[in-house]
Amino acid sequence: MILPKNNRLSPEEVAELTAIVTEFGCRIQPIVGDIRTIYAIVGDERHELMINRLEGLPYVDRVDTIQSPFKLMDRRSDLANGRLKIGAVTLGEELLVIAGQCTIDPKNPHYFLETAQAVKEAGAHAIRGGVWKPRTNPYAFQGDAKSLETLMDASRRTGLPAVTEVMEAEHVKLALEAGVQVLQIGARNALNYSLLRQVGHAIAGRPTAVLLKRSIHMGPLNEFISAAEYIAAFGNPNVMLCPRGTTPTLDGYRNHPDESITPLLKERTWAAVVVDPSHSVGKAAYVPAAALAAVAYGADGLCIESHVSPSHGLGDDPKQSLTPKVLAELIIRARALHAALRCPAAVS
Ligand code: PEP
Ligand code: MN
Repeated sequence: MILPKNNRLSPEEVAELTAIVTEFGCRIQPIVGDIRTIYAIVGDERHELMINRLEGLPYVDRVDTIQSPFKLMDRRSDLANGRLKIGAVTLGEELLVIAGQCTIDPKNPHYFLETAQAVKEAGAHAIRGGVWKPRTNPYAFQGDAKSLETLMDASRRTGLPAVTEVMEAEHVKLALEAGVQVLQIGARNALNYSLLRQVGHAIAGRPTAVLLKRSIHMGPLNEFISAAEYIAAFGNPNVMLCPRGTTPTLDGYRNHPDESITPLLKERTWAAVVVDPSHSVGKAAYVPAAALAAVAYGADGLCIESHVSPSHGLGDDPKQSLTPKVLAELIIRARALHAALRCPAAVS
């Protein structure tokens, strides 16, 4: 839909619009109002170049598109009929809980093995553990490839699928060879189209899934869904969208909690939404409320940092990891809320 700056366009201007859209196999249908005329684009309007050219015209205010820019992740795509399974959980049926340490300590791998067992007992369905870490400070601990063995050891011992972040093609290769079932693309790399392509290519046709965090630099939600589309476009639609807080606007929380985008994502895409309340709020004391809020907003799952002894952890663990005891209590409440929201309300 083309919205002109003035109430009506001149015949020459309409001819120019028509010439552009015709090049892309579309036509113009004016919708004449008493005060203003707007111009519908009839045909496949998803041509970015066509829209850019129309928006570049001095008499065009803006161009609104009705068709979704993402063909596979759109709610109306055939892929909406599929169901993603992570370990024993079918997304959409049961609340998925991914839990584990922010960072695996290569010098003290026993903590991770204990954490994995403890989060399993607390009710988690998959274990997360950071092997390679994206750190703001170049002198901070960057992770250690050796920890991949610890992660997979914990996965074997607990029988739970492993989740870890990958930041480059080499990580993707090593993680897949080791048997990592869920690759995390972190907030810093969610706009790294080259990595999105590499991951999509590497997991095409495999059962591997991707936990795609939302970048704090993403604007409209379509940008987030389009990042998932990159992966799906290579033939693997097993993408979970993970809101994890956006640019901080409150002095108190590490980031600005964004679990409230869950229903908005669900209106546009069929993808499961797995919220990360840990990075949203950045402090263990606030995580349970943020996690329950995410469930209330309709999240299909939660990704929560947990450590058997947070004060002995690395990276985010000392500040934001829940002890397995607090995690267990939270999982009971989160499951109850998830179930309650699916029960029809009794109205007398
Ligand atoms: C993490 O999961 O530990 C992490 C670094 O997350 P994010 O990319 O959301 O900051
Ligand atoms: Mn972390």
